[in-house]
Amino acid sequence: MYFIFEIEFNSNKSYIKNLIVAYVKKSGVSAQVMQSNSAIYLVLEKEQEKLEEFLLGLEQILPASLYMKGSKHYFSDTLPDIQEIEAIYTPLNIALCPNCQKEMFDISSNRYYYPFTSCNSCGTQHPFLDKYPFIRENTLLNFFKPCKSCQEELKSNPFRENYPLISCIECGVALRMLDKKSERFANSKGEFRKLFEVSAKALSKGKTILFKTLNGYRLLYKANSDLINPNTKLLMCNANAINTHLMLIPQEFNAILSIERPLLRVATKSQEIKEFFPFNTFVKYADDAMSILLAKELVNLGIDYICYEDATSSTEADFLVDYNLPTTKQEDCQLFINQDLHFFVSGERSIFPLVVENPDKRVVVANKKIVNRVDSVNLVDNIELFDLQEPKVLYLQKGDKNPFNTNRVYEFSDVKATILSVIAQNSLLNEKVVAIHFDNRLHFSYYNGKSVADLITPSSFNSQNILGKIRLLREGSDRLVENFKIMFPKLYNRLMKLDKDIDFFSVVAIILELKDESFNGISSESLHFMGKGGIQIDCKLNESKFDYYAFLASILSYKIAGVEANLICYSIYESFGDYIAEIVQQIFTKVKTNHIALSGIAFANQPLLARIDKNLGRYNILLPKELPINIDGSILGGLFV
Ligand SMILES: [Zn+2]
Ligand SMILES: [Zn+2]
Repeated sequence: MYFIFEIEFNSNKSYIKNLIVAYVKKSGVSAQVMQSNSAIYLVLEKEQEKLEEFLLGLEQILPASLYMKGSKHYFSDTLPDIQEIEAIYTPLNIALCPNCQKEMFDISSNRYYYPFTSCNSCGTQHPFLDKYPFIRENTLLNFFKPCKSCQEELKSNPFRENYPLISCIECGVALRMLDKKSERFANSKGEFRKLFEVSAKALSKGKTILFKTLNGYRLLYKANSDLINPNTKLLMCNANAINTHLMLIPQEFNAILSIERPLLRVATKSQEIKEFFPFNTFVKYADDAMSILLAKELVNLGIDYICYEDATSSTEADFLVDYNLPTTKQEDCQLFINQDLHFFVSGERSIFPLVVENPDKRVVVANKKIVNRVDSVNLVDNIELFDLQEPKVLYLQKGDKNPFNTNRVYEFSDVKATILSVIAQNSLLNEKVVAIHFDNRLHFSYYNGKSVADLITPSSFNSQNILGKIRLLREGSDRLVENFKIMFPKLYNRLMKLDKDIDFFSVVAIILELKDESFNGISSESLHFMGKGGIQIDCKLNESKFDYYAFLASILSYKIAGVEANLICYSIYESFGDYIAEIVQQIFTKVKTNHIALSGIAFANQPLLARIDKNLGRYNILLPKELPINIDGSILGGLFV
């Protein structure tokens, strides 16, 4: 008879399983840990000592994860009948596990306030990797010799068994704090804590710090209306104050605290925060060990959150906090949540390296990443991290550079590959699927179980001479542009001088005079709208293609009529939702399937998804599970083009 503890876990990532395996080893109980692509199973022999104690301890060591849902336990005479996936140690880039955090705040430990603390199952590892395989010789810690106690741990601590990045205050990396007059180093116990304490005090006094996290530089400052700009994001330091300052659904709260630490756009709540971010803001909880340690000191000073911007080594600030290692950052991952569904919008951190099945043993290059074999598995990661061998055939995304000499190249389109990636992530490659890709292009496509074909070739958009094109639309359009010229002469002049390669959403943002002249700006503005229904924006078809210029004309006329930007932005998404639904319904009269795959960054928008759900909710809507919904998801699709 077995006692089985089953945790729903929707990913092939190994860090939670590895953490449990290490804990089992440390506890000395007799147990097996297994993982399928939907759950982790802890299988214990029923009759044994220490079982209760073991299970209580398990709760203490497990972090929250985006992939982890509910759990259950039961008795069974047999082992779980599952298709097991192999545990693989790949370089992680997540926050710290509860064990390592505890160690960092334990004054008796030799990792007290030491920001390079991590273990086999947690922490910032990827930025330290020079090349695969992930062994110490191939990392930035190559020249740091582990001290006696670390060497001992490599053998005896199951959480750091053979851990390539082991180090401690005794044998590890020093920190430095610098201002225009003085320099302070931390390389012994006490000094590390002091450095974070001094940094927190400087921030509390309104100073700015250029702060080298384990994922690159951030400019940090206390919320201050002189400094806040469209790139400003919020770093929550106090978990207990998250719900005080932000208006969150439980799914958002859980995601913010998950060990993957995604960036989320959320609504603001407290008066104090609304003064700086009246509607919503990008937020994340202190993520890497540098930020976690600083956050702790800020909370000690009564500060719940600070502002940050992504920065470079040359960004100006009052203070500099850094260390002398050339770490390479991974882009932060941004998560989108709409009730029970969530997906990554963009980014790399916690997503790559990704272990993939590669049945045809293809070599694929897309978005500067490659699918390549390391030991017995296929990994997706940055090209420069691999020792490459010339492939027989290269599958190359159009626009990407060929890193090989071979001219046997099969080129594929980013849109088709992104669509295939969503279908593959939902394990539906044998089915027929209607697919919509929407970024600054809008594609309606069909996957027949083998390949993707465009149903409606998207019309192209050119930002040059927009007003001239609008003038020619129909009777009265000329007068519309004239009125616009009289009412908004500056804007008129700017639109007349636009370069040709500005994308459609940026043009819309420019017309609406948004601070953030991008897709993000419109998406953010649409969330400011608090009313009920939107207004109709013209999506008239031009030979069954979307008419960008009719759409822009419609926006110009609402602007002339004095309609608020947030209502227009909200309506843009509603109108797109209706337009997409209309076309899809036409398509469904001709094809027999129940699946609709969505890809492209434009779908990361609540009003649009709500509209699609309302109109097409009876179909099976497919969204990405592990890869971002933007073009970066295409690398997986390259295996199936
Ligand atoms: Zn850990
Ligand atoms: Zn050491």
